[in-house]
Amino acid sequence: METYLSKRLSRVAAFIPDQAVLLDVGSDHAYLPIVLVQQGKITRAIAGEVVDGPYQSALANVAQSGLADRIQVRLANGLAAFSPEDGVTAITICGMGGRLIAEILEAGYEKLSDVDRLILQPNNREDDLRRWLQENGFRIRQESILEENKKYYEIIVAEHGEMVLSDEELRFGPDLLKHPNTSFRLKWEGELDKLSYALASIPEHKQQERNILLTKINQIKEVLARVS
Ligand code: SAM
Repeated sequence: METYLSKRLSRVAAFIPDQAVLLDVGSDHAYLPIVLVQQGKITRAIAGEVVDGPYQSALANVAQSGLADRIQVRLANGLAAFSPEDGVTAITICGMGGRLIAEILEAGYEKLSDVDRLILQPNNREDDLRRWLQENGFRIRQESILEENKKYYEIIVAEHGEMVLSDEELRFGPDLLKHPNTSFRLKWEGELDKLSYALASIPEHKQQERNILLTKINQIKEVLARVS
């Protein structure tokens, strides 16, 4: 069976250390573990899924790939999919909201001490996820942003350590601010358009609401002016 990764999951794959023991949380179709094992980048993985439909689809895909001896598919909520004996060294959590990713990490926090690297791809609320990492003994090693099918995706790679992020870094990403690319600029130009449109619909007398939006708008303008 030939399995292909989307551009988004290929970028995630690039951050997984060679020969890691991977837990992919919310694996859905299990494409990421399957391709990584097929490529020989990793030898062992666990595909965790909490919903029965995607779990069955992951099971079927892994069986079809002939890799059932290397990839275990487990029906489990978040980090309950592994125990210390599994020797997991890297965890991917992709395609979910930033708050849900933070909740999953929080719920299994004590298990993270032996895990070297988290590769996280939130679909939104990246700021909340960065804040959780900062408050829970992680530092961001690398970040990436890409566009696929007219959507922008951020990837956050974190390891154990300390960091102190400014409000701007929490929102825009410390590493993305250092290495802004076209996707970064286009994402934030789009956000600026959306917020400006929203601002135009708020009546003048609702000054407090307008000020909240104006603060966000000005922050984006400042960042875009700096990176353009
Ligand atoms: N990770 C894949 C990707 O990025 O293409 C699939 C993303 S899909 C949108 C999100 C998947 O996460 C769904 O299959 C959902 O059932 C699963 N999921 C959501 N919450 C979960 C949790 N707490 N534990 C395990 N899986 C979860």
